[in-house]
Amino acid sequence: MKPQKKHVLPCILLFCLFLCLSLFVSACGVGQPPPAAFSSIPDSAASAIETEKAQESQSLSPSWNSAAPLKVHFLDVGQGDSAFLQLPGGETLLIDAGNPGDGPRIIHYIRSLGVTHINYIIATHPHADHIGGMAEVIDNFSVGEIYMPKVTHTSRTYEMLLQTIRDKQLKIHNGTAGTVIYDQEECHAEILSPADPALSDDLNDASIVCKVQYGATSFLFTGDISAAAESWISDPSCTVLKVAHHGSSGSSSAAFLDKASPKYAVISVGLENSYGHPAEDTLNRLKETGAEIFLTSQQGTIVFESSGDSVWLSVSKRPGPSCTPEFSPAPPSPDGTSGQEISTESTVYITKTGKKYHRSSCSYLKSSKIPMELSAAKEKGYSPCSRCHPDESL
Ligand SMILES: [Zn+2]
Repeated sequence: MKPQKKHVLPCILLFCLFLCLSLFVSACGVGQPPPAAFSSIPDSAASAIETEKAQESQSLSPSWNSAAPLKVHFLDVGQGDSAFLQLPGGETLLIDAGNPGDGPRIIHYIRSLGVTHINYIIATHPHADHIGGMAEVIDNFSVGEIYMPKVTHTSRTYEMLLQTIRDKQLKIHNGTAGTVIYDQEECHAEILSPADPALSDDLNDASIVCKVQYGATSFLFTGDISAAAESWISDPSCTVLKVAHHGSSGSSSAAFLDKASPKYAVISVGLENSYGHPAEDTLNRLKETGAEIFLTSQQGTIVFESSGDSVWLSVSKRPGPSCTPEFSPAPPSPDGTSGQEISTESTVYITKTGKKYHRSSCSYLKSSKIPMELSAAKEKGYSPCSRCHPDESL
């Protein structure tokens, strides 16, 4: 027992010294105060828990708060589809490339974002309103992986695309359910459908359906699938839904929308198209889900951003009634002005015979150059010139 007693006094002294030191340190305000939740826990225990929590959250999400946003650009390509994604890690993903003739404007748009490399390309299915501009896009960028469904088509547009891919010595990956395209930290892009394109002889149902999850938010791209292919997808839940087949009545079944339960629904569609898209009953079913609906025919190119916690509308070139009024500046155009300025400039120029409106410097404006208020030009049915308003005319 004696040897133990010998240690009691030094121990008490040491404890007092530690206590004094602790009081002095906290009085000087040195060190971080423990979070309120830890205030009733002894400091040593609290700091141990804090360290453990910090290590745990570090291993799960090393830079959650400072992470870059996921940006999803739904390009207004008229009666077609094209979405360009800037992933939080800096990689890029293009899903479809509009109609033939849309290539140059898509290229311009992507370039104006400062992007020179497209890491991943998905051609959802071989119809011309989805792959129309893709050969030109592939020709004008360095490209990583290309995903296509294992189906073929005999159209010239499709054959040109295959030829371009061969010429650039790129490889096509079969886009089948379960294929993970991207998986970095909290961002995960995976193909959900088709499990087997042979399940249907409808090319639309062979569309690659891709879900891009970022933290608690997700975007679902459905190509042109019908209600039949929608039923193959077990978990279509998403924050933002790219509505299937331009809002056709044969897609977006009530059962599918019920499971998807999107907060926002984007319909990529041309104004007054001959297909009657989007169908009234589809719009009604979407409204019943409570989703806020956006149409590229009304809002133009639409950009959403996700922090991983929440999604917000970032840009809409032609704000419509369902858009929020908060627009951040659009990507800069080559002449240094921002896309937002393009859409809000007040004076444009028309010609005596043309049906387009132009900027003062546009090379299409030859001898005649009639100034007009932008709003008046739009009211009179003039549309943006693709040369001097490339972003807006997308
Ligand atoms: Zn289509």
